[in-house]
Amino acid sequence: MKGKIQTVLGPIEPAELGRTLMHEHVLCDIRPPSTRADNDLGPEITLENVWQLNYGRGIKRAGRKYMLDLEDIAAREVAMMKHDGGEAIVELTCGGLSPDPEGLRRIARGTGVHLVMGCGYYVNDYQDAKNHGRAVDDFAREMIGQIRHGAWGTDVRAGMIGEIGCSAPWTDTEKRVMRAALLAAAETGAAINVHPGRDPDQPQEVADFVRAAGHPTERIVISHIDRTIFDEPRLLRLAESDVTIEFDLFGQEASYYGLSDIDMPNDATRLKLIRALIDQGHLDRVVISHDICYRTRLASFGGHGYGHIFRNVVPMMLKRGYSEDEIDAILVRNPRRLLTFA
Ligand SMILES: [Zn+2]
Repeated sequence: MKGKIQTVLGPIEPAELGRTLMHEHVLCDIRPPSTRADNDLGPEITLENVWQLNYGRGIKRAGRKYMLDLEDIAAREVAMMKHDGGEAIVELTCGGLSPDPEGLRRIARGTGVHLVMGCGYYVNDYQDAKNHGRAVDDFAREMIGQIRHGAWGTDVRAGMIGEIGCSAPWTDTEKRVMRAALLAAAETGAAINVHPGRDPDQPQEVADFVRAAGHPTERIVISHIDRTIFDEPRLLRLAESDVTIEFDLFGQEASYYGLSDIDMPNDATRLKLIRALIDQGHLDRVVISHDICYRTRLASFGGHGYGHIFRNVVPMMLKRGYSEDEIDAILVRNPRRLLTFA
């Protein structure tokens, strides 16, 4: 695979990739595992409740919100992104989140959008009980197989490793999965996407762990920076470790964030933080996305959809002084470099 990008439809030349969202979920189930047996999925999503469901407070049962399992709607949403100017999506639904490789393949065929699939495992609490007894080599063999032969019982091959789930504090199982991801990356040349724990120092802990293992940090993307790091010194220190910084919650414009006690930045603040990274020479270390994993963020249910960055954020970048070249680096060159097998 060296020198190629691997989509769910097979390898492509890096030049074919185009404008890329580096972290999305198209077919996914992110219901907390403890609620999966619940037959009551909560209310149907309506105009009246969609804002409150998306906000994430006060509605006790909201299982449906967490399920991206409607393939027709998923295909339509991906097609809408293409209309808005997007050409590729990295789909990081990995073990624990109900990945559907065949579904992704059908959507890629139907829309003409390049879909690059992830592999490996999400955070501790989403993992199958048997994973807690598995060794590093066993996880590594599985990920190498997912890249070379196919994932989750199919022949659809992964083109990136991740999102590899980490909690704060980092659990033993998660550290074994991360070590395995580094072995699989060294063996295959794939890049790794990391979901860090909800602690401002966890991204750096992961970067230091990768470096101590002797793996090139340039092949690591750290997700969800928007809900993890809020100060420039920490952000710049992380970028100086040569990992790629991923602001992937574009479109989440409410400062309230139910999963931890933080003030979520809005898109304008995200662009200010990215500007600070660029001004310090880190243009090559930034990628962006929406990390859509709720129905309520899809256009079909009243949300912004996968096209938001192309439709709304790029014009805002231009208005705020980003150059065409900088936008090209963030949306095309950096994704292309990372997804090209080393
Ligand atoms: Zn994700």
